[in-house]
Amino acid sequence: MPRPIQATITLEALRHNLARARSAADGARVWAVVKANAYGHGVERVFPALRGADGFALLDLAEAETLRALGWGGPILLLEGCFGLEDLATCERLNLWHVVHDAAQIHWLASRTKPRAHRVFLKLNSGMNRLGFTPEQYRVAWQRLQELPAVGSVSHMTHFATADGEPGIADALERFDSAVDGLPGERSLCNSAALLRYGVQPGGRREDAPGVLGDWVRPGIALYGGSPTGAHADVRRWELRPAMSLLTRIIGVQTVEAGSAVGYGATFRAERPMRVGVAAVGYADGYPRHAPTGTPIVVDGVRTRIIGRVSMDMVMVDLDPVRAAGRAADVGSPVLCWGRHLDAELGIDEVAEPSGTLGYELMCALARRVPVQVA
Ligand SMILES: *Cc1c(COP(=O)(O)O)cnc(C)c1O
Repeated sequence: MPRPIQATITLEALRHNLARARSAADGARVWAVVKANAYGHGVERVFPALRGADGFALLDLAEAETLRALGWGGPILLLEGCFGLEDLATCERLNLWHVVHDAAQIHWLASRTKPRAHRVFLKLNSGMNRLGFTPEQYRVAWQRLQELPAVGSVSHMTHFATADGEPGIADALERFDSAVDGLPGERSLCNSAALLRYGVQPGGRREDAPGVLGDWVRPGIALYGGSPTGAHADVRRWELRPAMSLLTRIIGVQTVEAGSAVGYGATFRAERPMRVGVAAVGYADGYPRHAPTGTPIVVDGVRTRIIGRVSMDMVMVDLDPVRAAGRAADVGSPVLCWGRHLDAELGIDEVAEPSGTLGYELMCALARRVPVQVA
């Protein structure tokens, strides 16, 4: 029997979440962001469920190649644009749209001769100071692109640093509006955080941020059923469904005395006699090593907690609440690390939060050794 760990990617959840994103987008077209191998879910696996999107956004040219090989003929956007001159030939061959965020990329484009072959998204640095032209440089860059024979059309984009918290997007939106004022071209601004916060709400209301939805929105995490802020409450409010579930089993049980230590470093001590289950999941599977005692986990449908340090291949769990609920809690009992199993649901953000991280990181870190099934 193989080690009993298994990840499941649920296509219905992806379809549902895409529909939620669409309803928030109020008619704007939707890029399904599938970078980082679709946030760890696998580009090939998610493709059948997300092909209802208007385009795919990613940054690895090999992933773009995969989408074309799967038969996707629609738009693909390279979110970081080209990494070198030679990538422009790949863009021409695969018909990839690409972001231009640096003068070097304009310089490379200037050497291409195929007329109007490139559809680019010019990126404004609206305050995050990661990628993009400053508001002062923006219009010069736009003008430069207009003059290049290889450039067919220029759209406008920016990325928000604080759409998920304070101070929000007002300053960045104002910088964007004034940078692109009067220029033709489509616009794209929103990641999941901005879309869920400023798009059409489940109740139909909208925050006041005129123009923020633009022509294209770019949700990533929301499609996978994770929260852009790290708060599981977002997932509930938007009724997002977990696209990834990580399930394993109890492979051993200990009965320990009060005062006994559990796990490496003896960081946990039992306050009373208790039953401890050993679940076949560890940091080599992508379970966060820094998950502290108390991190939620579901055994046999009952929410309980992990105890002691996470090891490479195992984590210890408190079986007492499971027993108290009348379940067997024994070798072979199913253990849900995150996602959904039968009637139980455990938000990936609820697991990430005690470790000081986000659902994003846990999804992306699902290890190769974990077998994945598509449901
Ligand atoms: C990753 C990314 C997104 C999607 O972000 P989420 O927070 O996952 O919705 C959107 N736009 C850009 C430029 C990105 O790099």
